[in-house]
Parts: sequence; structure tokens; C-alpha cells
Amino acid sequence: MSRAYGWTADGSVDSVEADELRDMAEWIVGGGSGKSLVARLNADGVRTVSGKPWSAPVIKRALTNPRIAGKQVTKDGALVDNPNVEPILDERLWKRVCDRYADPDRQQFVSRRANSEPWLLSGMVRCGHCGGPMYPHWNGNYKTVSARCGQVVIQQKPMLREVVEQVLARVTSPMWLDALAAAEDNGADHYRAVIDMSEERTAAIMVDYGAGRIDKSVADSAVAAAAKVKAEAEQKIAEIGFATGLPARPTADDVIAWWEAARERDRRALVQVVVDSVTVTKPEDADSLPDRVRITWK
Ligand SMILES: [Zn+2]
Repeated sequence: MSRAYGWTADGSVDSVEADELRDMAEWIVGGGSGKSLVARLNADGVRTVSGKPWSAPVIKRALTNPRIAGKQVTKDGALVDNPNVEPILDERLWKRVCDRYADPDRQQFVSRRANSEPWLLSGMVRCGHCGGPMYPHWNGNYKTVSARCGQVVIQQKPMLREVVEQVLARVTSPMWLDALAAAEDNGADHYRAVIDMSEERTAAIMVDYGAGRIDKSVADSAVAAAAKVKAEAEQKIAEIGFATGLPARPTADDVIAWWEAARERDRRALVQVVVDSVTVTKPEDADSLPDRVRITWK
């Protein structure tokens, strides 16, 4: 018998996994879909006890099992305390999770909600204290973004406003628009060829290293250089992909008009094209809320 996610083999609570389960429960209670939760867990590399990716049915089973609230169902169908299990969710939250899964209108509700209130920065926000991921905290209409370490919390709306302002400032700057125009002139095929060449280069380096013609430090730095060229070419392809929704040689006004008319998923795609990560620092480490938000550009 394998152990259940959230508890160690001896039945005590595994604090890291228990935190993960509480986050999952809050996501579901806040109206998040199982599918979006799976995407988030996969993006963060969170795995089940058997090392597999999570799926929506497995999440549902884990979150609705009475065990997670320290309960069990008797032969007569009564819900009673399970003296052998330390609870992970409090009973109230667990019941809300079960209600959410039992609600037949849930799917419709979730997709409406997902369209009106998407989270543009999924998987991108890092805690300035510990470097861990930060998540929107779903208090019904997720008002904060919180780190699991508990050291860093920020209000969601002003934080998002700051990120969007910085993203738009970047993609409307003459430097960025010129680089985009140059990339378009080269075309995606050019960058695909660059990627092929850097992959061939890496293979050739490994052959030389295997044959003893170069030593490890030379091979490592040559492989790193080829990887950098490849990453830059992939970034250019992503930028060209974004530009397909814009007029040729877009101006700053074109980009702003595009943003205002864009669907949320297209906005999110643009953010992903330019933003590598967003780090949020503690309030005491900055003079103002915008200063707490630091973007690492791609
Ligand atoms: Zn932290």
C-alpha cells in the first residue's frame, strides 16, 4: 500500500504536501477549475506520491476524501472523527470543497468566471524572501498574492496594474519595437535555422568531448554558448508570434490599441513573451508598492 499524499508513511502530516493540498482546496473553493489547477501544479513540477503528474480526477479524490479532514465514514454512512489520522483541512473548508465538486452548475460558473477574472501571471511570481512561488489567494475574488513562507503578501490589483504598466512601457519603447521589426525582417525561418545550427553545434561539441579532443570546461562553456544562442532564437520566434496580431511595423499606439482590444489569453501570451519572472519583496524592503514589484525580463 502506498501512502496517501499529505501524510508520511507513519501517518503524520507532511507539512509541504499538506500546504500543497490546502492551496489546491482554496483554488477549488475560490472557483478555480480542476483543469487550471492541473496546469499550475505541472508548471510548478508538483507530483503525486507515485511521481506522476496530477490529474483533475485524482485531485478531486484527494480533496473530497474524508481522511483529509480527519474523518471517516462508518458502515452506517455516518461521518465521524478518525482517531488515526491527523487532519489537513479544517472541516469547514473540506465541506466547502465537497459542495463545490457536488454543484452541477460548477463547470459553467467556472468558465464564466475564468473568462472574466483570469490571472495573468500564473507561475511567474516569486517571493523576494525565499524565492518560492507566490499564488493568488482566492478569498472569493482573489485579492492578494501570497508566498507560502508567509513572509510576503501583496494586494493583487495594484500589483497587477504595476506589472501591466511596465510590460506596456517595454513593448511600446522604440528599442523594443525596432528589435521586433528586425526580427520580423529576418522571419521565423531564420530563427528556426539558428536553433537547428545551435543543436548541431552542441552535438558536435559532445562528440569532440567524447573523443577526448577537448576537456570538460571547454565543452561546458561551448555547450552553454550554444544554448544561449538557441534560447535567444526561441525568444525571437515568440516575439514574432505575438506580432502576428499586430499591423506590420507597429507603433506604440498600435500596441496599446491591441492590448485594449485583446482577449485575456492573448494578453497573457504577450506577458509571457516578455516577462521571465516577477519578484515581490517585503514591504519593509521598498518605499512604495510599485517598488516591491521587480520584473526580470526575458
Ligand atoms: Zn517566501
